[in-house]
Amino acid sequence: MPIKLLCILTSLIGCSEPITSKTELGLGTVCTITLYEQGKPQIYDKIFNRIFEIEALMSVHITESELHRINEAAGFTPVKVRDEVFNIIERALVYTELSDSAFNPAIGPIVSLWDIGGEAQRVPSRDEIEAALGLLYVRDIELDRDNSTVFLKKHGMALDLGAIAKGFAADEAARIIREAWDLLPQRQQQDYPRAIIDLGGNILVLGEKPDSSAWSIGIQDPLDSREIIGYVSIDQNKNEQKTIVTSGIYQRYFIEDGILYHHIFSSLDGYPVNNNLLSVTIISESSIDADALSTAVFVLGYEKGKAIMQSLDGVSCIFVFDDQLIRIEGDVDFVLTNSDYNLAL
Ligand code: AMP
Ligand code: MG
Repeated sequence: MPIKLLCILTSLIGCSEPITSKTELGLGTVCTITLYEQGKPQIYDKIFNRIFEIEALMSVHITESELHRINEAAGFTPVKVRDEVFNIIERALVYTELSDSAFNPAIGPIVSLWDIGGEAQRVPSRDEIEAALGLLYVRDIELDRDNSTVFLKKHGMALDLGAIAKGFAADEAARIIREAWDLLPQRQQQDYPRAIIDLGGNILVLGEKPDSSAWSIGIQDPLDSREIIGYVSIDQNKNEQKTIVTSGIYQRYFIEDGILYHHIFSSLDGYPVNNNLLSVTIISESSIDADALSTAVFVLGYEKGKAIMQSLDGVSCIFVFDDQLIRIEGDVDFVLTNSDYNLAL
């Protein structure tokens, strides 16, 4: 692992002791898995193979992916997909419903038009955006569970699962680690596996920290990638897991004429969401839920996002605003360490 990456990882997650970990590029990001007990190559291979498999199924950039096939067939024909692809699309639509379409898996045409972080990134013309806006309606996604098919009714429509796939992959990695642990003939001193799954900052901690202290997960400063604003302290039991997922303006963006264009879009106007938020961090047990929610709440903004948070159990949220104020919703142990920011009372 490059030294710089290791430094970021260790600063994001307060760990001092020797650990075994493995880093690979996957799902368009840097994925690091740290296993405390079962650091055997086979387990790492199993996890990374699953991550690559999810990427191969759900990436819009891979031409053989199931998602690509669905998009290619838009306006023509339903496409039969694997159950897990069907299920994840169905799950995404639950969040579309919950967020009044702020979370929109049919955002694909707008994502490709802007190509933020890609080779063709640019500010599209208003006409191009207008034309794409008619292709974003989730009512034009037809799911047929009996036949396991997905049909996008209009030519030019495109699904994009970039806001949920990493969360799904983190949950899958945790499942693989637990299952491998259950199969171990001779478990060590404790009864449960302990691990950190970090998929490009989408973090999941499994079990109790080896020295029994709380896990500290750094929350990145959205205005300075070398800094954190503070950390979330997670004190959990041996068999528990928690995930910390952030959506923000800083993960993928470009600046033109002094304006920052980032990668999370409003399907109302086709532009990067422009509210007073810099980032939204969700803390919950399920990473797919946290991933979908962080994007949904970011798009919705503070008031509507807060209302959703209050309607859900076991989920908490950290809002970071552009005036460097931080607001917490729910039960989360957040420690502010960056004096440029203020915590709302
Ligand atoms: P995340 O970092 O999880 O918030 O996901 C951002 C990614 O989700 C983007 O790079 C797009 O691929 C996709 N995306 C952008 N805007 C939306 C939206 N409104 N709803 C769902 N997915 C989106
Ligand atoms: Mg997300």
